[in-house]
Amino acid sequence: MKNLQEQMLHELETKSDLTAAHDYAKSYIDTVFDRNIYPSEEALENLKHFEEGLPEQRGDSSEILELLNTHGGPATVATLGGRYFGFVNGSSLPITLAAKSLSTVWDQAPAMQVLSPIGSKLEAVVENWLRQLFNLADNTAAGFVSGTSLANFCGLAAGRFHQLEKLGWNVNENGLNSSPKLRIITGNQAHSTVIKAISLLGFGYKNIEWVDTDDQGRIIPSQIPELDDSCILILQAGNVNSGSFDDFKAICQSASKKGAWIHIDGAFGLWAGATKSLSHLTHGMEHAHSWAVDAHKTLNTPYDSGIVLCKHPEALKSALHMTGSYIVKGEERDGMFYTPEMSRRARIIELWAALKYLGKEGVSDLVETMHHRATMFKNEISKVEGFEVLNDVVFNQVLVQCETDKLTQHAMFNIQQERVCWVGGSQWKNRKVIRVSICSWATTEDDISKAVASFKQSLAKAKKQ
Ligand SMILES: *Cc1c(COP(=O)(O)O)cnc(C)c1O
Repeated sequence: MKNLQEQMLHELETKSDLTAAHDYAKSYIDTVFDRNIYPSEEALENLKHFEEGLPEQRGDSSEILELLNTHGGPATVATLGGRYFGFVNGSSLPITLAAKSLSTVWDQAPAMQVLSPIGSKLEAVVENWLRQLFNLADNTAAGFVSGTSLANFCGLAAGRFHQLEKLGWNVNENGLNSSPKLRIITGNQAHSTVIKAISLLGFGYKNIEWVDTDDQGRIIPSQIPELDDSCILILQAGNVNSGSFDDFKAICQSASKKGAWIHIDGAFGLWAGATKSLSHLTHGMEHAHSWAVDAHKTLNTPYDSGIVLCKHPEALKSALHMTGSYIVKGEERDGMFYTPEMSRRARIIELWAALKYLGKEGVSDLVETMHHRATMFKNEISKVEGFEVLNDVVFNQVLVQCETDKLTQHAMFNIQQERVCWVGGSQWKNRKVIRVSICSWATTEDDISKAVASFKQSLAKAKKQ
């Protein structure tokens, strides 16, 4: 029997596992666009095949892949296809899957330029492209992180550093215990990851100054308290339920003049700013100081991929700063100065491939098409007796309600059971709602029709239950 190293060298040489993985991947793609969106009961049941104790002995690589293919693939949620409308979950553009597949074997870690010249180069290139796409200042810095949870954290960390520095306090050196007090101001519809970031940064969420929002979930500008150098104001591009945008034109410029740091959580909505017909939604956002946005949502790159953008590179780099005697500084860009982590995967490769493939025009087209599909869904479902749409469909989100909360919940349960599409629930104005989030390049008009038919049938069934 070969020793471990000999065995692995042999596997590498034959490449049979890579070939098998590739073939399995191809057949997955052949079926995933048409199959049940949520795993069948049988597929869920078969997950028991993974329940075992820690293996004592070495396994067989082809059997491992076969197990994954046979019982793993069917238990995936088909978020890649066109009828997954849960949460705000992007699909993946075909080019990004291919680029990810190639770069998987590169296994790059773009912490420093010297560690991955290609990773570092693509981060520098994409940073520049993002400034252009979102019309941001030339020195805007970008950090490439796992998602908007972390991007919110980074933007707010930069704001914390910058505001305290203005007040004569270095938070890196002195911490928060006896620092000047910062005020955190946000809308009562802020995303839960914003609240988490506020807690992680030591502000304490009980200290948040909450601002009232209107019927669409937008901050009411006149309700924002008096602002000054001690303030961090957090706004939103894309409410996770209604998809609405805070009025940046009315808020950002004057808040900035008063000395507040403005952070925008634009997880899926910031991309409106990169379109031809929807960019009015983000007008004024350029007056903010930091922005968080996902690539794995609206832009449809594979998981995980988020971006923090910051108008003050020094504040971002200072907040996320690190030193070490073995660090080698590059000439162009060392990614770790813009992120909390030192080691990260080179997710920039898929992001670069997406933007290179789409171009400015393609990004606009992709996002506008999602909006059109959401509008179509709104129009079609409004014609079905028993459903009502509650929000203005300004972007990709549709909130649907039945006559009673009970009917809404039963209808949603039936839709999920039918598996033609998948939608989740939420709470809106103290009522239960079904959230429909159109976030896939692959959603066709036919997908919308199929989903509406499933809604109709599921409500009819709920009325009989
Ligand atoms: C999804 C979302 C987040 C969190 O982003 P992750 O990529 O899941 O970490 C934050 N804010 C809003 C508005 C979101 O939709």
